[in-house]
Amino acid sequence: MTSIESKRVQYRKYLERAGVIDALSKALIKLYEEQNKPEDAIRFVRKFMCESCPDDAQYDVMKNDLEEAKVHITKLEQELERLRGQIKKSPEEYQELTIAGYKSLMDDEENVNSLLRKYLTPELLEEYMLVTTSAPVDAYLYDCAVAGFDHHEAPVGIYAADAESYDVFNKLFDPIIKDYHGQTENDNDVLQKDADFGNVDEIENLDPERKYILSARIRLARNIEGFPFFPKLTEKQFIEVEDRVRAATETMDGELIGSYLTIGDIDAETQAEMVKRHILFQRGDEQLTTAGCYRFWPTGRGVYHNPAETFVIWVNREDHVRIMSMAPCGDFGDVYNRLVNGLQELEKSLTFVRHPRYGNLTACPTNVGTTLRASVHIRLPLLSKDQDRLIALAEELQLQIRGNDGEANEDGIMDISNKRRLGFTEFELVKTLQDGIVALINAEEELEIAGQEG
Ligand code: ADP
Ligand code: MG
Repeated sequence: MTSIESKRVQYRKYLERAGVIDALSKALIKLYEEQNKPEDAIRFVRKFMCESCPDDAQYDVMKNDLEEAKVHITKLEQELERLRGQIKKSPEEYQELTIAGYKSLMDDEENVNSLLRKYLTPELLEEYMLVTTSAPVDAYLYDCAVAGFDHHEAPVGIYAADAESYDVFNKLFDPIIKDYHGQTENDNDVLQKDADFGNVDEIENLDPERKYILSARIRLARNIEGFPFFPKLTEKQFIEVEDRVRAATETMDGELIGSYLTIGDIDAETQAEMVKRHILFQRGDEQLTTAGCYRFWPTGRGVYHNPAETFVIWVNREDHVRIMSMAPCGDFGDVYNRLVNGLQELEKSLTFVRHPRYGNLTACPTNVGTTLRASVHIRLPLLSKDQDRLIALAEELQLQIRGNDGEANEDGIMDISNKRRLGFTEFELVKTLQDGIVALINAEEELEIAGQEG
């Protein structure tokens, strides 16, 4: 958005918020309804506005009422959401919803790229529609695919509702996983070998002079054995997961020592600041909303972090556990080392679910395997100007480019990370990222030199 446009949008929002639009509209409607249109229309409007406008004292009372009503509405919405989360659908309802969802996805001729659309054939739909994973979870195909049925633009369109979903609906999940992770040619039974964090010392500081890299981060996702994934977690289970993770953090040592905060206890302003500092998550993603990720919010959601904010654990953000290590520079050696230590500490008291073929299981099939995403926030002003070259390089180096808030690309800061999370060891993926970033920085430096010479 240009800055003029965004100012205009902000101004419009302000006018709406302040009630100006509403008051003016009412006056205009009144004028419209007036049988005998007055000659002096402005006077009419002015008179109407003065009559209908409250005085200052009345205004304060109304403002107060409005605030109270808003709080009440939020509470009611939460209650409604809670109750909705408890409704059990009958098999007939599931069948109906599945057929309707599938039809709308397939009928959409504009959004045709989701992996769900690509791999959910009519035969598979027929076969899977009324099958469920084991009780008491009883996840249907619909529970997994609802986000893709409703959001046709979603690149993947499916989440596993529990670990078993990967097996029960395997003929759908398997090609999606292979496709996303570039493993379509891989015929091995095991797509992800055992964890191998390799030699931590081989991972380095990629930008000791701090010219390009603003920050580095590596994250892992884990889900605790015996619990469904977010689409089917009950309210009680959200709390149980939180309790277990909180307890597991209590034995952290050294630079990993920190404190746990449940989101319900963090005021909105502090939450927003923490999100800005990249140590907290928000609700809001539409696909996740549809898939049931924010049911019972903020129950069971929280964050553990050390005072330096370099080691962070998110609880019940999509996966039960997201573990991340960060640094305000390019020192991946430091980041990687801390991450591995943190994971090992958690593994002492939590058992995470693993699959013999896919490795670590996550709700989103794009994360299975290592679940590892190593990223830098980086500024490469010259290379960024040549988007075609940048995209080609990223493709060649197996890198993914996101905006620095996950979406929007602000101030030319890019989030660059490994694209694949499966089929390679943890070490190999971090190394891929390391080599890729070095190559990008070299390309930027070449452009700098060419610029100076030219
Ligand atoms: P993920 O899927 O790995 O959790 P997201 O794109 O959803 O990543 O981003 C989650 C949060 O992590 C956001 O606040 C994002 O800005 C932050 N983040 C990601 N990479 C980095 C990085 N290299 N440095 C600092 N913050 C980061
Ligand atoms: Mg994410």
